[in-house]
Formats: sequence, structure tokens, C-alpha cells
Amino acid sequence: MKTRTERQEEEHYWQYARDSVLPMLRMITIFAVASQVVFMFEDWFGSPDQFWNLFTAKMISISVLIGAYLITTTKNGKKYLDLSMVVVCISLVANISYQSSIIGATFMMPLVAILVTFVSASLFPWKLRYHIAVTFVCIFGVLVNMVMLQDPPYFPFTREAMSGVVFPATTILLAIFAHNRRFDLWLAERTVKESEERFRQVAENSADIIWIWSPDRRIQYVSPAYTKYTGRDPEELYDRPRKALEIIRKDDRLAYGKVLEEIMNGATRKLDLHVCHTDGSVYFLEAWGAPIKDDNGKVIRCIGIWRDVTERVQLVKDLDVMATTDHLTKAYNRRFFFDVAQKEVKRAVRKQSPLSLLLFDVDKFKAVNDTYGHHHGDEVLIGISTVCREMLRGEDVFARFGGEEFTVLLPETGIDEATVIADRLRKLVSEYTVSDKGKTISVTISIGVASWQSGKSLDINTLLNQADQAMYQSKASGRNQVTVFTKEMVQQEQQA
Ligand code: GH3
Ligand code: MG
Ligand code: MG
Repeated sequence: MKTRTERQEEEHYWQYARDSVLPMLRMITIFAVASQVVFMFEDWFGSPDQFWNLFTAKMISISVLIGAYLITTTKNGKKYLDLSMVVVCISLVANISYQSSIIGATFMMPLVAILVTFVSASLFPWKLRYHIAVTFVCIFGVLVNMVMLQDPPYFPFTREAMSGVVFPATTILLAIFAHNRRFDLWLAERTVKESEERFRQVAENSADIIWIWSPDRRIQYVSPAYTKYTGRDPEELYDRPRKALEIIRKDDRLAYGKVLEEIMNGATRKLDLHVCHTDGSVYFLEAWGAPIKDDNGKVIRCIGIWRDVTERVQLVKDLDVMATTDHLTKAYNRRFFFDVAQKEVKRAVRKQSPLSLLLFDVDKFKAVNDTYGHHHGDEVLIGISTVCREMLRGEDVFARFGGEEFTVLLPETGIDEATVIADRLRKLVSEYTVSDKGKTISVTISIGVASWQSGKSLDINTLLNQADQAMYQSKASGRNQVTVFTKEMVQQEQQA
């Protein structure tokens, strides 16, 4: 059984033979046929009475040569290439030999060639088999010529022996070795071509943009996906590599330049890039780049793969919003509020900076639902949330705590400032209205304020508890009010 590599190599060899050995074989055939004709006339002049014998023999010899040549040019010629090659080589040996033997050249040698080819075919691997067959037949041709030349007695190393035997045999062996070498080169070239073709197919059909840079920052290759994400022709990059910067959103360019530099210096890097299409759309691409080094560790080129992750990034963003915000009001949810609050508490303690908390509840909200319906109740909640988010600062954390109860965490804010903010909120909400069939719906809120003073221990649940007590106080004293938590409230509660 042949291995896959052996089969592949053999297949390659025959392809090579079709491209390269066959033309040589044709030339040899033409030369051999021509020499047969020349010898025929030469012999005829030497012994005219032998003409018809010679003529028949030479014609058979010529027919064998032409037949061998024709067989190799048929569709399945590769099967007979060994054989034809051998036949032609023998005839060549026989003809170039000083005194060629008619019988040897016409009958015996082709027969021996067939025999040797088939025997060696079953004994040796394909490449070796071919060489062994040719070598054996050459030697046999030499022997036949030596035996046939009995008068005068024939000795090796005479002038005749050199010109008739050694020279053609050496020529043929050299030709075989030369071809062997050429075949290896041909195979190497073909392997490179094949792998290039494979790369091209992968790169040109890839949804990713594939880049190859030379160490001097010239762009050697950009795959066609470049057009998909930029609306531009990759050709523009080959002369002006800096054009690549134009497709990258301005705020990513600095990071891109830095990362490219690091890759050129031998590091593997990953970077998220916003790529701008000429139609105005922006793609979010995950760019990965790596250096390709030679045996000495010198960077010879860099490759990059830019993958479109726009959908994935959007999905993550959506999931993040879903996980952290309240679906109805778009305020943060209770869980996210606690996550952020823990961090803010730690930060406040570390920096000994003030931290305040507001907790508010919509007054008589049940009545709103009962009078105008749940749908309008929802609208009011959305409206309150919008009013609050518009009023608050970016660092404030506004969350829906449950039902119609909301909380606001105010970092870096002391009790006085928090009270002012709370009152402004209360006022804004009371001015906010929702219209329904000519009627306007308006609501008020009751707010409790709690503040942490530096020097004391801080815990978010304590702060929430205090704000809750203050809010309860607001409700108790008539609603639509802001109450700041005081120690007395604790005492009152304990007394109650
Ligand atoms: P108070 O001034 O004492 O807070 O009176 P209230 O009517 O607001 O108090 P209560 O807690 O009894 O009522 C809260 C109501 O809020 C009851 C509930 O149906 C309503 N509610 C809670 N969540 C939602 C919501 O998402 N949408 C709507 N439309 N109503 C809600
Ligand atoms: Mg309420
Ligand atoms: Mg309530």
C-alpha cells in the first residue's frame, strides 16, 4: 500500500513528466529516428547486397521508436512512459554505438526493456524503479554491443569502446540525474504555487479582512472583505498605506498606530476598532495582528485579521442594558443600584468624601391607577423617571427600587446640597403633567434624605434605612415634602 504522500508524489511526477519529460522524449525520438535513417544509408553504401535486410531491420526499428513515442502522447500515456523512455534510450545507445547491432536495436533491446521494466516495477518503488530499469537496459545495450563486435576482438577502454559504449551510457545517466534534480525543483515550485493558491482561496472568500504588511509598513496584501466594510477599493492601499488610517474612526487611530508598532516589533496584539464605511455606517471590528519571523527571530512580515463583531457587541450592550436597567422606566434596577452603591460607599470611605442618598415614593399613586387606568399610571412613572434623569448629574445613580419607589445615590454630595437637589426634584415632578382626553394628570413625591458624615462607619443598608424613615416622615407630615434624616427619628421610632 502506498502512503498518501507517496501517491501524491507519484501523481506529481506524472504531471511533471507530461510537462517536462515528454518534450525531451520527443527530441530523443526524432534524433534516434534520424540516426536510424543515416545508419541505414551508411550501411547500404558499405554492403549494397545487404540493402533489403538492412532496410527491413531499420524500418522495424523506426516503427518501434515512433510507436513508443505515439504511445506516450496518448491520454493514458503516463502508464507507458517508463517503457517508452527505456525503448528510446536503448535505441539511442544502440545507434550511437560505434557499430550498432541490427538485431539488438530492433528486437532484443525493446524486449529486454519490457522485461526489465516489469520485473523492476514489482521489486522497487516507482522512482527508483524507473532509474534502475533505464540503467540496467543501458548496461545491457552496452553488453550486446560488446558481444556483437567479435571481429576484431573488442576490449573495453579502446577508442571504440569509449565512443560507442561509455559515452552514450554516461550521457543517459547524467540526463536521468539532471531530470531528477529538475523534478525536485519543479515539485518545490509547484508546492509553493499550490499553497499560495490555497491561501488566496481562503483569503478571498473570508468574511474577515486579512492584511499582510512588510516590515517597512507597506501593505502587501488586503483581502476583498476590505471593500465590504469600507466601501473602498483595496488597490488604493498598495501605493499609499497611510490610507488605511482613513477607514479607522478618529478616536481609535492613536491606539491603532501604537499597536501596529508593537506588532512590527515582534508582539502579538488584539484591538477593537471602529471602521467607517463610505455610506456612513460604522462597523465594530476585532483586529488581531501577529509578526511572522525568520529563523533568526527577525520580523519579515506581519499579518492581521479583522473580524466583524458589530452584532456581538450590540448584543452584549443590549444584554447589559437588560441586566442593569428597569424595563419600564429605563432607570437602573435594584440589583445594579446595590452593585454601584457598594463601590461608591468604598470610594467615599477611602477618600473621606461625603455621600448622600434620596429615597422617594409617589404620593397617592394607587388613586392615579384607579382614576386613569394602569396604562396612564405607567406613563406617569416613565415621565418621573425622565424628569429625574434629565436633572441629575452623570455620576448620580438613579434607580427604581420597586413599584413607584425610586432612589438616588449622590456621590461627593453633602447633606445641604442633597436637600437642595431633593427639593428641586420634588418641585420638577410636581410640575410634570400627563394629558388624557382633556384631563391632566399630575403627581407629587415624598422624599427622604440621608447623608453619611466622614468619620463614622458607613453601610448602604443603614443609609437606605435612614432615608426610608425620613421619607415616612414626609408622608406623615402631608406628602409632597423633603425630610432629612435626624437622630431624633431613631429615638421617636424607639419610643413608638
Ligand atoms: P402613598 O402616598 O401612601 O404612597 O399612597 P400610594 O397609593 O402611592 O401607596 P400604595 O403603596 O398603596 O400604592 C402603590 C401603587 O403603585 C400600587 C400599585 O398598583 C402601583 N404600582 C406599582 N408599580 C406600578 C407600575 O409599574 N405601574 C403602575 N401603573 N402602577 C404601579
Ligand atoms: Mg406611593
Ligand atoms: Mg409605595
